[in-house]
Amino acid sequence: MLSMQFIRENQERVQQTAANKNIPFRVEDLLAWDAKRKELLQQTEAIRTRRNQVSKDVAPLMKQGKREAAEPLMAQVKEMNEKLADLEAELQKAETRVSELLLLVPNIVSEDTPVGRDDGDNVEIRRTGEPTAFGFEPLDHVALGEMHGLFDIPRGVKTAGTRSYYLKGAGLYLHLAVQRLALDFLAARGFTPMDVPVMVRPEALVRTGFFPTGQDQTYEITDEGKYLVGTSEVSLVSYYGDEIVDVEEPIRLAGMSACYRREVGSAGRDVRGLYRVHQFAKVEQVVLCKNDPVVSEAVLQEITGHAEAILRLLELPYRVMAVCTGDMSQKTYKQYDIETWMPSRGAYGETHSSSNLLDFQARRSNIRYRDEDGSLRFCHTLNNTAVASPRILIPILENHQQADGSIYIPQALRPYMGGMERLIPP
Ligand code: AMP
Repeated sequence: MLSMQFIRENQERVQQTAANKNIPFRVEDLLAWDAKRKELLQQTEAIRTRRNQVSKDVAPLMKQGKREAAEPLMAQVKEMNEKLADLEAELQKAETRVSELLLLVPNIVSEDTPVGRDDGDNVEIRRTGEPTAFGFEPLDHVALGEMHGLFDIPRGVKTAGTRSYYLKGAGLYLHLAVQRLALDFLAARGFTPMDVPVMVRPEALVRTGFFPTGQDQTYEITDEGKYLVGTSEVSLVSYYGDEIVDVEEPIRLAGMSACYRREVGSAGRDVRGLYRVHQFAKVEQVVLCKNDPVVSEAVLQEITGHAEAILRLLELPYRVMAVCTGDMSQKTYKQYDIETWMPSRGAYGETHSSSNLLDFQARRSNIRYRDEDGSLRFCHTLNNTAVASPRILIPILENHQQADGSIYIPQALRPYMGGMERLIPP
């Protein structure tokens, strides 16, 4: 959320950002409702003051038995009370409308964010490793998974519908191994590992910027009035909601959770295999820091670097993309996506997403800290994937397959795989 004052002072910039993010939002509507709210507030206060004055004059007249003199005043008070009731109802409506519209205002974007329509306009900024070259006909992860008995998609679909799967045997151990690797990597860098609630109240989603705009992507537990999170970012940021925190040193959290996504609007996209599923697991980095763009930019580079380091530990080729305005969400100020080489797609596929939200989320969630001068300020918040599985199993299986059908296990994963160096087909 942006402050009303910032929106008033930067009307054109905010409107241009909405256009660049493909968000159908009209700043002038918000400003018109805000002006109306102010005017109604002034009118209400003026009438209330006048009514109080007149009421005051009634009591002495009545005491002196001057009922006739008091009656016209009493009529005036009655009339003003009626008018006040109408104005207060209108004011309430205007205040609600302003609050609703404020929740839809897009965050501004950084100067170095590319302007573009969709992910096709994202800009590659660096690359590590080269697409894997095979001296044999490589299999895709679905065929490899079947050969090694790592997962079962048909039975997942039988039980739970499309975009569902079972992980089995070494497939489950690999899934756990990448998460343990990521968690240990982050814990060694000052992150607090956390298991978090995945069923949350709607307020947590509103206050972290996932509602109202992303509500259609979220599973609702109807009888409970709760929702399943699509990322532990919701629970990690909400942990500090309404609190005054100490961010002298940034607060670094590593959440490990199941994530649930309806994937509305993705019909027909990525339907083969484990790329786009309704339920997956993710180790997520969330950082809260001072309201200082220099500090949060450094944190953005730090958490992006962590994801890259994890991919290097997994010995996978990847590239880092500067995400363009049209591919950004409402809340994002600056974003990098990291894409890992997926041989079966003949392309890099997104595996990580790293964002600086400035104080957009902290303002909604009311998370503040005390600055050097004693004033309370909203933090900046940032997040990035550390690892998301089973999507990451796609590049692991596909890039590390060998001519004999075995799958090479990266050195860094071996301690989490009982020392196993290869998966050998049964
Ligand atoms: P996001 O929170 O949307 O930026 O996603 C973070 C990461 O989670 C992505 O880069 C993917 O690795 C993973 N991910 C997101 N959505 C899905 C999905 N529907 N199925 C599998 N993995 C996903």
